[in-house]
Amino acid sequence: MSSLVFLALLALGSTVSHAASILQTRDTLVDCLNSSLSSHGSVRVSGDAVFTSDTIRFSSAFAPGFRVVAEVANEHDVRASITCAKRTSTPFLFTGPRHGFYEGFGKLQNALEIYTGAFWHVDIDAPSNTMTTGGAAVFKNVSGALQAVGKNIPVGGGPCVGMVGATLGAGIGRLQGLYGLIADSLLSVRLMLPDTTVLEVSKKSNPELFWGLRGAGFNFGYVLNATYRVYDAPAHGTNLNADFEYPLNSTRAFYQALHDNKMPAPLCLSTSVGFSAVQNATTLRINAVYAGPEAEGRKAVAFLQRIPLIRQNLTQIPWNTIPENSFFSLGNQRINTCGINAGKRVVRGVAFNKIDVNTHVKMTHQLDYMVNTYPQMRASSNAMYFCATQAVANKSKDETAYPWRQAIGHHTWGIVYGDANTTDADIENIPKKMRDTIAASAGTAYLNTYIGFSDGDEPAKSIWSAEHLPRLAKLKKRYDPDGLFSHYHPIPV
Ligand SMILES: Cc1cc2nc3c(=O)[nH]c(=O)nc-3n(C[C@H](O)[C@H](O)[C@H](O)COP(=O)(O)OP(=O)(O)OC[C@H]3O[C@@H](n4cnc5c(N)ncnc54)[C@H](O)[C@@H]3O)c2cc1C
Repeated sequence: MSSLVFLALLALGSTVSHAASILQTRDTLVDCLNSSLSSHGSVRVSGDAVFTSDTIRFSSAFAPGFRVVAEVANEHDVRASITCAKRTSTPFLFTGPRHGFYEGFGKLQNALEIYTGAFWHVDIDAPSNTMTTGGAAVFKNVSGALQAVGKNIPVGGGPCVGMVGATLGAGIGRLQGLYGLIADSLLSVRLMLPDTTVLEVSKKSNPELFWGLRGAGFNFGYVLNATYRVYDAPAHGTNLNADFEYPLNSTRAFYQALHDNKMPAPLCLSTSVGFSAVQNATTLRINAVYAGPEAEGRKAVAFLQRIPLIRQNLTQIPWNTIPENSFFSLGNQRINTCGINAGKRVVRGVAFNKIDVNTHVKMTHQLDYMVNTYPQMRASSNAMYFCATQAVANKSKDETAYPWRQAIGHHTWGIVYGDANTTDADIENIPKKMRDTIAASAGTAYLNTYIGFSDGDEPAKSIWSAEHLPRLAKLKKRYDPDGLFSHYHPIPV
């Protein structure tokens, strides 16, 4: 054999073995998606710039690990993605706004992310007071569209949180004193089940599943779109936005005032206890929003002006501009930027039935101690959702899988770890101690927590109540027997 022929064969051999190794490392999931998605869908693999922006989460703590992203554009793509994941035995997670937090996410690795960002549409039928949103529309999409036609609906404070994502947990937010939880305005959904059939789910159609969707709704399939009742906006679509900042030694007077005052239905207070660089001290900030005329709103928040304060700002503003104005933000548009990694943060929460003034004050001192003793924890804060609850509490506990309608408010802790290494043990387990402090005085038989403000270390009964668990387990076994939708707060079966 001439040396030339030998070299040619050698080259051929190397090409064949290279091809074989490519064949071996080809990702059958990617192949399946490439051949199944519509021309509007896309497949992203690690290394693509878009892969990074599609998988970025609000919290980087316990983030899931993805190998492939399927960007779905329509119902066909959703079905194709589930089918490919099942065919290749790949675990998958639907994501859109990516504000969900759950310690168990970290267990999901080498998975498929089914990215639903294209499902952000909001369609309003103003004469019939209804609105249909895609499964990934965020609060600001909803409030912007409703404001334009003089309507509103309860939404939460963060503009980039998923409307449907929040609804499936219950949805705590402003206007709930008037209209109830966000889920209480839900009329129906179109749900793609794990077997890829699509169901209409409402009080009339599959009512038991409709019950389970409103509190444990991440467990049964993907909500393609959701239809809600909407409401005529009061005061020509404006609300009083009232911000207050207090020194730490005013917290006792504040909690005492909450204990003593009755909240009028249009009023919602949110608080934030955290370190202020300007004051070089921990302060209490309060955002009070009143959905009604300015004069009525000023009367409703006057009790907050009687507490010694550092500063205040009261303005009557369009309802949909509250996020960028609340907490002295003065129209800061950066607040409306979505798709941001807000750091390594853990969320914990307690729903409380009563305010024990001493323990509330004690908890604020625990936080103050933590941020002063451990400067790497300085971005951490305690927040309280203290919205009027008349329309929440007037429905029975069994109306929805979400059980804690008797709660008068929710404490949440956004624990931000300023470095990669600090563990809770290094900071005297203060995050859990703060939760224990409030839970012990909450007037509940055991820890009650809202799923959207929980981190996954709580017993299931703390999220859904002991009474609701058997009913939920039955639903889970029926609609997701293989546990394909079990990577975020799964119902125990
Ligand atoms: C900064 C911040 C502010 C918040 N404020 C509020 C608030 O004011 N009120 C409140 O009630 N909650 C609030 N939450 C909690 C929030 O409701 C939950 O974290 C919720 O799960 C976020 O949903 P998402 O769609 O944004 O997140 P994602 O991480 O995209 O989704 C979370 C989970 O929900 C599932 N999911 C999302 N959409 C669908 C769908 N269409 N069909 C089926 N499953 C779906 C996902 O698969 C995932 O398992 C807040 C959270 C953060 C981080």
